[in-house]
Amino acid sequence: MGLFKNSANNYLFIISFLGISAFISINSFSQLTINDWYIIFTLTGAILLANHNVLELPPHGNSISMDSSIFLASLFMFGLNVTLTASLLFSIIYIFTLRTTKWWKHIFNFGLYSLMIICAYNVFLFTGGEQGNIDFNDLLPYTLALSSYFTLNVLLIGIYFLLVGSENIIIVLKGMLKGTAATYVSTLLFSLVLVVLISAQNTFGLFLFVCISLLLSIAFKQHLKLYYEASNKANKDYLTGLNNHGYFKELLDSELSVAREIEQPVCVAILDIDDFKKYNDLYGHIQGDQLLKKFGALIKKETEARNFIVARYGGEEFSIIMPNTSLNAALSFINHLRKTTNDTYFDGVEVLPYECLSFSAGIAEWEKETYNTSELLNKADMALYSAKDQGKNLVQIYNQHFDYTAQQSLNLEKDLDEAEQQLKIFLSKDVYTYRHSKRVYQYAVDFSNKLQLSINERKTLILGALVHDIGKIEIPRDILTKKGKLEPHEWDIMKKHVTWGKEIISTDKTHEDLIPLVELHHERYDGNGYPYGLKGNNIPKLARILCIIDSFDAMTTERPYQPTKTFEEAIVELRECAGKQFDSEFVELFIEMIESNFHFKECPEVLNQGAG
Ligand code: GH3
Ligand code: MG
Ligand code: MG
Repeated sequence: MGLFKNSANNYLFIISFLGISAFISINSFSQLTINDWYIIFTLTGAILLANHNVLELPPHGNSISMDSSIFLASLFMFGLNVTLTASLLFSIIYIFTLRTTKWWKHIFNFGLYSLMIICAYNVFLFTGGEQGNIDFNDLLPYTLALSSYFTLNVLLIGIYFLLVGSENIIIVLKGMLKGTAATYVSTLLFSLVLVVLISAQNTFGLFLFVCISLLLSIAFKQHLKLYYEASNKANKDYLTGLNNHGYFKELLDSELSVAREIEQPVCVAILDIDDFKKYNDLYGHIQGDQLLKKFGALIKKETEARNFIVARYGGEEFSIIMPNTSLNAALSFINHLRKTTNDTYFDGVEVLPYECLSFSAGIAEWEKETYNTSELLNKADMALYSAKDQGKNLVQIYNQHFDYTAQQSLNLEKDLDEAEQQLKIFLSKDVYTYRHSKRVYQYAVDFSNKLQLSINERKTLILGALVHDIGKIEIPRDILTKKGKLEPHEWDIMKKHVTWGKEIISTDKTHEDLIPLVELHHERYDGNGYPYGLKGNNIPKLARILCIIDSFDAMTTERPYQPTKTFEEAIVELRECAGKQFDSEFVELFIEMIESNFHFKECPEVLNQGAG
């Protein structure tokens, strides 16, 4: 690298030296007349104005400057001496006014421009161009002069980047050549327009040209501002001002294609705030939104100095693209962010389990074999779930040798075991409820595979199905096992099982997701259910699904106080009650599952167990 740096510096020196030497040997101030000096000052002013008022174009940072058109027109009209001197004046003014750019860069630029101007002029003369004598019947000298001007520019700057050892040489060159055809053509056209104006009206022609380019620059600026405002609205999240989900995916796509080209590592992290629901439930959505906003600002600030891309991925989930970052560097950065989040005070965070704001995160690194962005995000997501499972406030890296599905089912299995232990109490009190619960659980397992549920939803539905009737433990044995119809007061007691069930489930904080299933599985879609008479989508989705499964099993198994239905009869009943008792969206799906899983004419053994 040191060697590269040295040769790059030598190169800068050589070009500057060559340019200045060529300037000195060709340029002759003594030949300049008063009129020439008048033109030189006018040209310098015009170049300065053009440089300050470029035509800005999207994407950000792209622009067309009129200075090259002015240099070329000046060459065609006034020749080398005038043009080179104007270029010298312009560079001297820039050295003193543009102090943010290092002095040697100004010198290099002057050398470079001198070489480009001299080369273009000689090509112009060599191919039959005649200074001051405008003849547009043969455009070749003008076109070739322009081509040599730009070719030398790309070549000399390209060599510099090569010597600096920039790994991005391809991107740099691509950037330089991108849209160049359009830039070349417009530069040539503008220079010809200027030539016409100058030959008709001398410096007044130049004045007109500068006025028009100023107006164009203002118009382009305003246009671009509107363009950015509109695209900001479409790409930004309204609450946090970060990139939104859709735009994030677009950005990720383009980052991955860059990474593919230059073989750089890229990592992606997905962050999910821990226990945010608790915060929301306690303080309300408005304060919840404020917390999201502040957390978004914190990530933005922390990533500002790096070239990272931050987005709001979903509700309380955020994502970060880390270009040119190894997995270890990504892990250390996200852990630093996690610590900063823990150490920053946000209103009300003392109620959270860690008494501070915390998040869990999953990181995945893009690899050549990674099929697409979804696969990469999926890996980060799996790592995130793993971090949640291990107690939250953790950052996990995706590990291809780790069996995430096994981990998830292991966790579910553990919970199911515990729930089953609790249910076993029914074995002596009411074996019907025990077996009913086991069958409803099995239906839930099968049905959840057919539904588009998230991992969490699936787990909640399956566990909820197993424990949904847990409240029946409180119901007196004689009511629970009564043969024959229940009296109204007995019904009232029976209905209380959902509320008692909720109380039992609420004692364990880790199972609070199950509460809606236990409490609301007797709500009806038409609002005639209990305990609250909730209607339609006010009933949580999983409770609506469980209601169908629970009712289907109740219809098809022998019960103390009602005759059993066959599967066909139960399906007819489900369809009849769709939209009334049940959410029709799930009824047909459930029937499809039953029809494909069970050949119900020959009732499977498991279903007959309920009769016991
Ligand atoms: P975990 O630690 O497992 O991530 O628990 P959690 O409570 O953070 O996660 P869960 O996915 O159960 O709940 C996320 C909650 O985020 C649900 C919803 O109340 C809240 N939420 C989602 N989007 C918004 C939003 O735009 N504003 C507010 N205020 N809350 C939101
Ligand atoms: Mg979440
Ligand atoms: Mg969360």
